[in-house]
Amino acid sequence: MKKPTPLESLIVAMIREDGPMPLDRYMALCLGHPLHGYYMSRDPFGPDGDFITAPEISQIFGELVGIWCAAAFQALGTPSRFSLIELGPGRGTLMSDVLRATRVMPGFNDGAQIHLVETSPTLRKLQSEKLGAQVTWHETVDSLPDGPSIIIANEFFDALPIRQYEFHQGQWMERRIGLSADDRLVLGRTAFPLAGPPASEGAIFETGPTRDDIARRIGAHLARFPGALIVFDYGHAASALGDTLQAVRRHKFCSILDRPGEADLTSHVDFESLRRALTQGGAVIFGPITQRQFLLAMGIETRAALLSRKAKLAERKIIAHATERLAGENQMGNLFKVMAATSPGLATPYPFGSP
Ligand code: SAH
Repeated sequence: MKKPTPLESLIVAMIREDGPMPLDRYMALCLGHPLHGYYMSRDPFGPDGDFITAPEISQIFGELVGIWCAAAFQALGTPSRFSLIELGPGRGTLMSDVLRATRVMPGFNDGAQIHLVETSPTLRKLQSEKLGAQVTWHETVDSLPDGPSIIIANEFFDALPIRQYEFHQGQWMERRIGLSADDRLVLGRTAFPLAGPPASEGAIFETGPTRDDIARRIGAHLARFPGALIVFDYGHAASALGDTLQAVRRHKFCSILDRPGEADLTSHVDFESLRRALTQGGAVIFGPITQRQFLLAMGIETRAALLSRKAKLAERKIIAHATERLAGENQMGNLFKVMAATSPGLATPYPFGSP
């Protein structure tokens, strides 16, 4: 049997002490443990990493988000100072592509104060290399500055811890991590008084308490100060039963119990509950629409054609491939959803329909 990871040994000790561990606690430790957490010590992005995100696939993604931000800036009345905020900025690629695109909008780059919400020291370092010193970091959304804001989040909410409940022998139970006889991690069930309609044996229901809490706080910020938020993530428009928690290591799915701290753990975002939480905070919600709808409406094809015109054949192929990956129906285009939120009273942001 393989030697446990350092984090696994820690978690085994915690479970021995406190009993079975809720999944959100497990997920938070696997991703964010200060020493052994997945994001804390490594750069997981790119071809050599564990997964690749939209901004890492092509600069076009960030440029189109930049155009969206420029329109939001106009809707806010071109404030002379505002916060341009990104939640979970990874390598800083998206922000850097956004800022290149917004150069054409007079007043945007001069007025933007960049704020990044990031817990990982390793990624903060990459972000500062990419974006320079004019950046303020935050551990959480609680310390975001007062005043107008434009907020971006790509694949941020999927990394926040979730809980799972399972319908077993006529009642809902919580799924928790326990120990086998030989001290390996196993997924088990503990009694939990969850009020909910009966379901079929083995049905799974997920909640995201941290996700909801962050969304409520952002909604409250948008209610207090003028601003706009755009969220990209994979997930479903309406709440549904199902186990969406997944682990990925070196571009391959693995068990969530495999090598804790060495795999990325994510879950699909329930956009219905995200909408509810943002609304509870006081924001007005638009969408979700698919990433495909968003990118096509923002002009991904025109932008790709323009880039291709200046490119060599090999590069043209790469551009075409990237465009297909981002917007293709069987690729990220339909799996990923885009939701926007604004302060009450702002115009409907293009390309969303009325709230
Ligand atoms: N937006 C980037 C990275 C997505 S990965 C991209 O598209 O490439 C998730 C990002 O969220 C990482 O930067 C990770 O360090 C950060 N993160 C994860 N959990 C977080 C938390 N609780 N608070 C702040 N940042 C978090």
